[in-house]
Amino acid sequence: NAVPNDLSAFWMPFTSNRQFKQSPRMLVSAKDMHYTASDGRKILDGTAGLWCVNAGHCRPKITEAIQQQAAELDYAPAFQMGHPIAFEFANRLVDMAPKGLDHVFFTNSGSESVETALKIALAYQRVAGQGSRTRLIGRERGYHGVNFGGISVGGIVGNRKMFGTLLTGVDHIPHTHQPGKNAFTRGEPEHGAELADEFERIITLHDASTIAALIVEPVAGSTGVLIPPKGYLKRLREICDKHGILLIFDEVITGFGRLGAPFAADYFGVIPDIMVTAKGVTNGVIPMGAVFVKKEIHDAFMTGPEHLIEFAHGYTYSGNPIAAAAGLATLETYKEEGLLTRGEELAPYWEDALHSLKGEPHVIDIRNIGLIGAVELEPIAGQPTKRAFSAFLKAYERGALIRTTGDIIAMSPPLIITKGQINELIDHVREVLRMID
Ligand code: PMP
Repeated sequence: NAVPNDLSAFWMPFTSNRQFKQSPRMLVSAKDMHYTASDGRKILDGTAGLWCVNAGHCRPKITEAIQQQAAELDYAPAFQMGHPIAFEFANRLVDMAPKGLDHVFFTNSGSESVETALKIALAYQRVAGQGSRTRLIGRERGYHGVNFGGISVGGIVGNRKMFGTLLTGVDHIPHTHQPGKNAFTRGEPEHGAELADEFERIITLHDASTIAALIVEPVAGSTGVLIPPKGYLKRLREICDKHGILLIFDEVITGFGRLGAPFAADYFGVIPDIMVTAKGVTNGVIPMGAVFVKKEIHDAFMTGPEHLIEFAHGYTYSGNPIAAAAGLATLETYKEEGLLTRGEELAPYWEDALHSLKGEPHVIDIRNIGLIGAVELEPIAGQPTKRAFSAFLKAYERGALIRTTGDIIAMSPPLIITKGQINELIDHVREVLRMID
């Protein structure tokens, strides 16, 4: 029953053939809700890959769009020229975005979207005559990717320590997860909205006029599906407005239907100034991210006094034609199949299925919102071994993919999942909970 603890068990660096041959878990093909492993077994995808394949795998419309675009216009610079497919995609994205977020910058990943958003926030404040606003605030247990800005504002202490000095002038507000108080709560917890006021305490500590932006995941995903208490995000919005601070939502996971609404901003009725997305923007199939901003922020960033000669922004692959084609086909698939709101319909069923795990061995909390869920397990006292990781291994052996983060099992299936497949997924989890020590 040995559980590997080394990092390579989680992340394969894809560096050598040797590594490749050693891995016990190789995925070789995929279709809709399933992967096929190298030994021929079908694996039910309970995590939409890494929270990204929202429309399911190898959808013909998306595959064909990629093939056609690759044959027609494979690459074109987005600097000093353009290509229609990227404009078309940008227009479609802003048409569906929360009100006011009417400009979009393309990136190639969630991490790049975060860096782009932080840069835009700082530049906007400078151009708006608020050059003293250089401080960025994140949230404990927030995850914002692997680049320097994202690690700095991210709330994973170990990640920050690993690299010594990162961005300076960064602080973090407390996260909202209060297991003792909200254990087994369904949907948005009742308790803890007052924690938003901790933001004001931190502001007072630093002087409001030095703070450029606050970045939060509306629902923290990678650190364990931490759902904000009722009213929490609205309160953050109010505090930002009161103090002239930009509010950035990192919707890399929550964007594109995960909560049963197109974006968490729609779900919670709170519109940020900058919205960071990636993953579901192309159904996870081609690397791409999109950062949505309000017009005045876009204009300040693109036409500020230091523009162009000394300043430029953009990636070689920004709005890449093949990614844009994949994105357009993804949006069409979402629309045709009603996937961006399907989570709303399925959420009560998902919730009941997840909460049927209450009382199973080791389970100390269950959380859910939209089509995302977490089962938190009791830690093994004094041991780094995580039960959730054993559960992941056993579930994979049984034919289901779940994700683990610390002592938490996280699930975020493709939005095409059927009720029967929800039962199947949860039954796998139930069985593995009964199997592990
Ligand atoms: N922000 C959030 C909220 C994420 O969940 C992730 C990835 N899981 C990222 C940023 C980074 O995205 P990427 O891995 O595409 O760089």
